[in-house]
Amino acid sequence: MNESIDCPKCKIEMKPQLVEGIEVDRCPGCQGIWFDMLEHEDLKKMPGSESLDNAVSGKDSSDVVKDCPRCHTRLSPTHDAEQPHIVYDKCSSCYGVFFDAGEFADLKELTLKERLKAWVG
Ligand SMILES: [Zn+2]
Ligand SMILES: [Zn+2]
Repeated sequence: MNESIDCPKCKIEMKPQLVEGIEVDRCPGCQGIWFDMLEHEDLKKMPGSESLDNAVSGKDSSDVVKDCPRCHTRLSPTHDAEQPHIVYDKCSSCYGVFFDAGEFADLKELTLKERLKAWVG
């Protein structure tokens, strides 16, 4: 069982949410989503998982210093390899990832488009 964790942004307790059998943590304040190591890699391949992230993208928080809610390592802003316009906060120690509201849906959407492109082309 995972312990409950606090949002790296708002410092309030995140609520575990089960999506397609994968437990993620969702902040009830900023709607940010915390994924433990590589959870988001599995999740973004699953149909319907973008409904998890139904929040409108808030203001960019990349200038806010955040610490990993699991191991308290400073999170480093990381550009997604496939979609460099998306920046998420990644823990270099436990490989957890924090997405601001809207970022995960963005990531997922383009992944689908790219997959379609691969099928067609
Ligand atoms: Zn929050
Ligand atoms: Zn960590």
